[in-house]
Amino acid sequence: MGDFGVKTIKELAIEGLIEGKKVLIRTDFNVPLKNGMISDDSRIKSTMPSIRFCLENGASQIILMSHLGRPKGKVDKKLSLKPVAEKLSELMNEKVYFFDKYLEKPIPKTKKLVLLENLRFNEEETSNEKKFSKKLASLGDIFIQDAFGTCHREHASTVGVPEIMKKEKKILGIGFLVEKELEMLNFNNVSYPFYAILGCAKISDKIEVIEELLKRVDKLFLGGAIVFTFLKAQGYEVGTSLVEDDKLDLAKKLLKEHKNKLVFPVDIVISDDVDGGEIFTVDFDKIPENMKGLDIGDESVDLFKEELEEASTIFWNGPLGVFEMPPFDTATRDIAEYLAKSMKHVVIGGGDTHKAINDFRLQHYFTHISTGGGAALELVAGHKLPAIEILKE
Ligand code: AMP
Repeated sequence: MGDFGVKTIKELAIEGLIEGKKVLIRTDFNVPLKNGMISDDSRIKSTMPSIRFCLENGASQIILMSHLGRPKGKVDKKLSLKPVAEKLSELMNEKVYFFDKYLEKPIPKTKKLVLLENLRFNEEETSNEKKFSKKLASLGDIFIQDAFGTCHREHASTVGVPEIMKKEKKILGIGFLVEKELEMLNFNNVSYPFYAILGCAKISDKIEVIEELLKRVDKLFLGGAIVFTFLKAQGYEVGTSLVEDDKLDLAKKLLKEHKNKLVFPVDIVISDDVDGGEIFTVDFDKIPENMKGLDIGDESVDLFKEELEEASTIFWNGPLGVFEMPPFDTATRDIAEYLAKSMKHVVIGGGDTHKAINDFRLQHYFTHISTGGGAALELVAGHKLPAIEILKE
């Protein structure tokens, strides 16, 4: 049993449990698509070590299952996993058999490597429906969880399937990708000071995590739109910036309890229109009522850098401004460049931060970039991930 209370794929191989077995792997093939083409294949590449390892250890068949996008329980050809099967075939130099009739027909035994069609074409996937889970569970002798990005979700392929296989005394474990994520996001033996940077659009998505995070870190730097809820909670004018009024009381509570740990921007980049309006930088308490905050300013970046200099370990999740629309990517880029050159232990939560760092071509400079956004944040905050818990004996 590995450090996380779950069996790793390597342990299963050492015990001779993979040879001759049908291995069902939950992978994360939720790749970005542009005009029907895969625009970034890093998610596919990151699952290849587990797939190859099963092949090398004599698995009789490997069945891969994943979701792609949010088709809401209906077949949507634009979100088919067929292009992923083709890409994986090319990358692995192995024939990948794409199979969309898995609910009606048995998988041909002669096909060594199989990818099922997008699981979310069935609404039973997200509702974690029993019969659907049972069908999927019947496809393998072993279940391997290697889709970290969905480990915080209780879906059929993440929780329902291993639950059934566990009852049937089948073998459960984690792949190389999930093992690495659990190791890197555990932060139990980190060197301190341990700082976190959090930037996001919606405080409501992350509020619980903020509270937990504040218990673990020495300082929490805030950027992104959540800043404005905190500013408004203190009575400052925030103009037309994104604010969640129903979270003002909570923001007040956090400010009262953790004021000395929270680091806020001191200046804000504002405009009346994100798309082509005139752009100014003002002090945090001088936002005019007809303007919205879209990034944190240069003085804030300097302040963040100065304070971050003291950190030994840093976890960063969420862009600091509307990074998709330059020049509101400036603070995110400056902080990313600073951290990239810092030689500190820096772990990046996935999602938008991962995308920003890829756009800046800085992906090779960090200790670890997580493949999961929500799942990474939950784990760092100390929450249990249901898809990992179910694998424990
Ligand atoms: P989230 O989806 O909650 O992880 O937050 C990421 C999103 O926050 C990105 O799409 C950013 O464009 C957005 N964002 C960051 N800063 C701001 C801001 N000042 N106003 C509005 N949206 C923002």
